[in-house]
Amino acid sequence: MAGRLHVVATPIGNLKDLTFRAVEVLKAVQFIVCEDTRHSRRLLDAYGITSSLMSLPAFAEGERAGAIVQRLLGGDDGALISDAGTPAISDPGEKLVTEALAAGIHVIPIPGPSAVITALSAAGLSTGRFHFLGFLPRQKSDALAMVSEVAALSATLVFYEAPGRTVDTLEMLKTALGDRQCTVARELTKMHETFERGTLSEVASRLQVSEVLGEIVILVQGHAREAKWTEAQVREALSAAISRGERMKLAAGDIAKSAGWSSGDVYKLGLQLKG
Ligand code: SAM
Repeated sequence: MAGRLHVVATPIGNLKDLTFRAVEVLKAVQFIVCEDTRHSRRLLDAYGITSSLMSLPAFAEGERAGAIVQRLLGGDDGALISDAGTPAISDPGEKLVTEALAAGIHVIPIPGPSAVITALSAAGLSTGRFHFLGFLPRQKSDALAMVSEVAALSATLVFYEAPGRTVDTLEMLKTALGDRQCTVARELTKMHETFERGTLSEVASRLQVSEVLGEIVILVQGHAREAKWTEAQVREALSAAISRGERMKLAAGDIAKSAGWSSGDVYKLGLQLKG
């Protein structure tokens, strides 16, 4: 019988954010794959987890994934963790998971912290739809091009960023997107956790005052559509579509285009009207 691969989320700062299930799994598996054994040993020691550790740094994932899959095929149960948060989210793991699945290994996610979701949950921006871009390219022109591609999305945009580049990135985002509302979440779950909220230029000038330290997530409000119709007009169009027996999803899409609303909002209103 082949072993199973558990993809286990670990804390993004506060050691108490490891779940009971994660501890159980990490204790039970024959081996744990991590980015840096010295870093992960501190977490595992805090929970009395003694399973053997092997390293899978990002640069070596392509080379080593095959050997890990062979070990799983040989019958050992394994777990994948990263230095912080959820593996494969701006961290090694994607290749190992893909190769394990291709070899018929059962891959089991053990959920827990991730900086993108933690930041979004308290950012105060729209959470209904969000678009995660991870780290932007280092080259400014490449970063600008990537951000321009998503400028028209109404979803909240989420980026990971290094502290020393935060102010420059906020300024670049203002150039590409206009002076939108944003939140900079810093040192989540740690002693110096802070949230800076305001327009991109307000937050950039607040952060310019002293050196930005720690780990950073930048969240930017999505593109605000200009509503052309009032709610009463949208209700009227929906009522007409309902009485014609049209399918709600299709009707909502058509009405949204004319009204300058998101189709999700029109659809929700349509469902309310249908009772
Ligand atoms: N796999 C991780 C996850 O699930 O969030 C992300 C790893 S990525 C290499 C590290 C980046 O995540 C940091 O540079 C920062 O942008 C963000 N990050 C991680 N921990 C954070 C924290 N405690 N507070 C704010 N941002 C954090």
